[in-house]
Amino acid sequence: MTPLDRDPPDRSRSPIIRRLLDDPRVAQARLGRRIGRLPYFTRVESATGPITHMEGREILNFGSNNYLGLANDPRVISAAQEATARWGAGVTGSRLLNGNLALHEELEEALRRFYGRTGAMVFPTGYAANLGLMSSLLGRHDRAYVDDEMHASVLDGIALARAHMKRFGHNDPEDLRAQAAGDTHAGICVVEGVYSMRGDRAPLRNFLDVCRSTKLALVVDEAHGLGTAGERGLGTVEDEGIVQDADFITITFSKSLGSCGGAIIADAEQIEALRINTRPFLFTAANTPASVAAALASLRILQAEPHLVRELKARVQSLRDALARHGIQPIPSDGPIVSVEVGADFDTLQAWRLLWNRGIYTNPVISPAVPPGRGLLRMSVMRTHEEQMVRTIADACADVFTDLQLSQEGRGKVAS
Ligand code: PMP
Repeated sequence: MTPLDRDPPDRSRSPIIRRLLDDPRVAQARLGRRIGRLPYFTRVESATGPITHMEGREILNFGSNNYLGLANDPRVISAAQEATARWGAGVTGSRLLNGNLALHEELEEALRRFYGRTGAMVFPTGYAANLGLMSSLLGRHDRAYVDDEMHASVLDGIALARAHMKRFGHNDPEDLRAQAAGDTHAGICVVEGVYSMRGDRAPLRNFLDVCRSTKLALVVDEAHGLGTAGERGLGTVEDEGIVQDADFITITFSKSLGSCGGAIIADAEQIEALRINTRPFLFTAANTPASVAAALASLRILQAEPHLVRELKARVQSLRDALARHGIQPIPSDGPIVSVEVGADFDTLQAWRLLWNRGIYTNPVISPAVPPGRGLLRMSVMRTHEEQMVRTIADACADVFTDLQLSQEGRGKVAS
């Protein structure tokens, strides 16, 4: 008998392991099982596009962030292939010790030119970019003011810095003003250009005004804004004319750019200071050649073809129009995330399940990602969706809302 053949020891005797198993999120996964299956970690069997193979079926996919369709663009794919052939599959270490590939520098140069700023710094993921920025900017005695709907990567970065976090009401600059007025601590305000769950936009100019009067540095996370907002696709900072005013802009390559990675865009002086003290940058492996080359190729396509952003917006409008014809009112926005408030967690999961049964993939958003009773059915539009697909999901939503007796205006069951 080899050591591997022996029965594993009973690890649940350890209080740490028992607590892991008793975590409320594990209980929530059990709720998922009540609807017949967990709506997360779905097995995907083909490249992500409007039609994607999942768990043995052909699925109409409204749950992907491949907003511009660039993850499947042949030019992007061949850029990744060529980079792998030339530079190898991996970088085998951090940029600090193993060095910058010329490709990393090329992408940083392209990004700073795209934004018309003097500095850019690339990370292995968008999560790492936010984690790095928060943890190196902030110290223990500083204040981080964040929107109530802020993404986990920002919250985790603030926790890593052990800074004091204060939340302000979602998209409420006046709440920020009231909280920050008279606060003498150094601090930052973090907002998302387009919110990842509700899909709505931040009133960036108003936040900038408050930041100026309270001396907070402004950070805008454009994870969902890049490639979906602004004439040239820079994001909501472009629409609101604050590309130069935002102190830091963070982005990800995993959505519109169809790759993997993230970046901070800012002035050169700040970026060079961050480069030498950002631990989630210094002590982790650099982006793979394939992911950098793919992001670079997508960025060049976006620069050469800004009409892609307009085409995406037209598709989003088609979905909103089709839902409106059924009286369904998503949260107002012109971004690619179209979310409808369903209500209770269980109803939200049921709505997801009924759509899945019809071969349609969406994302259910339930507590703790949103407050209890405010569950969302989240649909993500791709430029490559066809009109017929948009009509199909809108018709299916109407049927499901009727079956579950959900109010078309969102927020729970129809009063009986
Ligand atoms: N910020 C926001 C607002 C996001 O939605 C995401 C991804 N869901 C990230 C940051 C992290 O990006 P990535 O997936 O590249 O790690």
